[in-house]
Amino acid sequence: MKIIDGKALAQKIKNDVKKHIFENYIAKVKKAPCLVCIIVGEDKASKVYVNSKRRACEECGIGSQIYQLPEDTSKNYLIDFLQKLNNDDNVSGILVQLPLPKELDKYRNEIINTISPEKDVDCLTYQNLGKMYSGEHLIAPCTSTGIIKIIENENYNLDGKDVVVVGRSLLVGKSVATLLQGKNATVTACHSHTQNLKDKCQKADVLVVAVGKSKMITKDYIKNGAFVVDVGINRTEDGLVGDVDFDNVKDSCSYITPVPGGVGPLTVACLMENTVLLHENRLKLQKNCETEMDIDN
Ligand code: NDP
Repeated sequence: MKIIDGKALAQKIKNDVKKHIFENYIAKVKKAPCLVCIIVGEDKASKVYVNSKRRACEECGIGSQIYQLPEDTSKNYLIDFLQKLNNDDNVSGILVQLPLPKELDKYRNEIINTISPEKDVDCLTYQNLGKMYSGEHLIAPCTSTGIIKIIENENYNLDGKDVVVVGRSLLVGKSVATLLQGKNATVTACHSHTQNLKDKCQKADVLVVAVGKSKMITKDYIKNGAFVVDVGINRTEDGLVGDVDFDNVKDSCSYITPVPGGVGPLTVACLMENTVLLHENRLKLQKNCETEMDIDN
């Protein structure tokens, strides 16, 4: 059994981003990409996550701006704010930290879809999700991208494998199921209405759990030798724990991601990569547009 070191893999990705930023921006005295994160309200976990994103930006040489908006921010204010960021040429990527306060969450889709797809760094707009579902994406949601990197970093061949994903949120479950299918795995997507969840999980060569219920997956859910990816982050009296009961399960798997130190660091590292990818894609689009205008004239 191998416990995956998500921190080490994330560090490797961030080091590559840092090198890229140094060679292509700092050494050439060019303006580096810039990520904007917006938190609305006082959710403590959100503040921790956004802080770690800011630190990762600093580490990689990516610019960052954090906006903390009050809990009672109106939908119109937030939409107007996002539109200004869309039009700001200095902004490469925009991330609205979820969850939103209850009042605003009713408009979550409208808010997220205000972000220009060219700057939608967590790939949550309909346009970017559509590209991902049709396999034509430049980026995918950060956590799901990180999960694929974790599996591929072990040279684990997903082709033809039976994969079970528990959880079907846009942010994680649905998108990782799509990416896994893109790797030719046979994916079963489970959720709160799934019957006989345990039986389905027991057949999984790879089990990805993104539910938000501490230690719900015990060893009776695990096929011997499975690759187990625990996405869950649950704050309990014992500290942060995953959706998988790590101590109970670990001896039944071939690979397992711990919480903390598994998927979480990858989410942040992939956010750095996505910011650079979107920045460079926008520069390319602007350049193409200028060339077309030159031809027209
Ligand atoms: P959501 O609450 O949006 O989705 C949870 C999903 O789990 C839903 O699809 C729900 O089903 C399903 N579910 C709930 N209860 C059960 C059950 N008993 N059996 C089977 N399925 C169930 O959560 P997220 O996807 O946003 O996040 C999931 C977890 O991952 C959380 O702990 C979150 O903190 C963590 N997370 C970690 C990240 C990281 O970087 N490591 C990044 C993002 C999230 P239904 O659709 O039917 O309601």
